[in-house]
Formats: sequence, C-alpha cells, structure tokens
Amino acid sequence: MQILVVEDETRISDFLARALRAEGMCVSMADDGPEGLALAVAHPFDLVILDLMLPTLNGLEVVRQIHAHKPDLPVLILSARSDLETKLRGFALGADDYLAKPFSLDELLARVRVQGRRRHRGDDGDILRAGALVLDQARREARIGEHANRLTDGEFRLLHHLLEHAGEVISRERLLADVWGYDFDPRSNVVDVSIRRLRCKLGPEAPIETVRNVGYRLVAA
Ligand code: CA
Repeated sequence: MQILVVEDETRISDFLARALRAEGMCVSMADDGPEGLALAVAHPFDLVILDLMLPTLNGLEVVRQIHAHKPDLPVLILSARSDLETKLRGFALGADDYLAKPFSLDELLARVRVQGRRRHRGDDGDILRAGALVLDQARREARIGEHANRLTDGEFRLLHHLLEHAGEVISRERLLADVWGYDFDPRSNVVDVSIRRLRCKLGPEAPIETVRNVGYRLVAA
C-alpha cells in the first residue's frame, strides 16, 4: 500500500511512518496542506492519512479538494478535534474514516488495512477485459460499450474462464470440466447452450468464436 501522511507534528508523522513501514507499507510525508494536496493529486496513493489542524491550508479544505480531484482516493482523518460537527463535516466533504487523537496504533493499523482492502476490491483487480468486453467480477456483470448485463452463476464462470484464457481455443470437454466440474459426457450440451445465452447477453459484438469441431475461443482484441 502507498500511503501519504499529511501531518505537521513531526513527532506524530515520524511515529506513523515508522509504524506503517514496519507493516510493509510505502509512506510519503507532507507537513502542510498545500504540499499534501499536491502530492495526493500527483501520485497514485492508496490512502491519505490527514491531520486537520495544519498550517496554511486547513485539513477539511484539503479533504474537499482531494475528493474533487480524486473521488476514489480514501482519506482517513486523524485529528485532535473529536467533536461531532467536525467529524460530520469531514465525512460530508469526502473523508472515509475518522480517528481521534490520541489514537491507538493497533486501531489505526486496523483501519488502514480496511481501507486498503476496500480500495483493492474497487480496483481494476475486479475487472477483466478483452478488447471492448469488460467483466465486472464484483457485480457479476458483462459489458460491451453501453450494453451491460447481469450474468447467472454459470454464465459468469464460463465467461471468466474464457477471459482468463483469452485467445486460446478451449475444447468443450475442458470447459465442461473446468467450469462445471463434470467429467466429459459427450451428450451434454450445457456448454453450447451457455455459450448461446452468453452471446445473446453480450449482443452482436460478443467476441466469442466457435472453432468447428473443437470448442470456443474468446477473441482477445
Ligand atoms: Ca496539526
């Protein structure tokens, strides 16, 4: 995880940096609002840990501007101000979490990990692509351009398998075994039926090719 710590008290930022690095995270530091904002916007961080009482530019304003530039970048506010109003303002401006100072290191690390996992799920790790085809694994949805469709469990696993082997010819037997877990039964037409339904859902540009007498191939580009 790449983490940006924006904190003007070096005692706290040094402590945080040491603790986060000990957990294997990469840490960058800024000691005022404008510098923190500039770094957050310019570099691909997974999380910003942000103090609110900062010189030059108030932390809440930093949250607002980070959110305006990078709505998906999580911000964890770490502040001595624990009043509800400030907290709510922080959340309203786009913060994802709020921890009051003094804080326990274990709790901070736990919350950092939660943000990391959340970020990872929302990442491109959940998206598989081949040419114009996009498979959103979290939503079990396949998309080509504006054409989006929810997939059944079987359709999803079939398309996922084809995408993971994009460009390869995959036999019906192998699809049956790998996707449905059946031993090959030459009478089963579950593969062909599922392919037909998938093509129908993906629309006229479905990139699934029939390779005669063998099986199917997902065209990669
Ligand atoms: Ca401060």
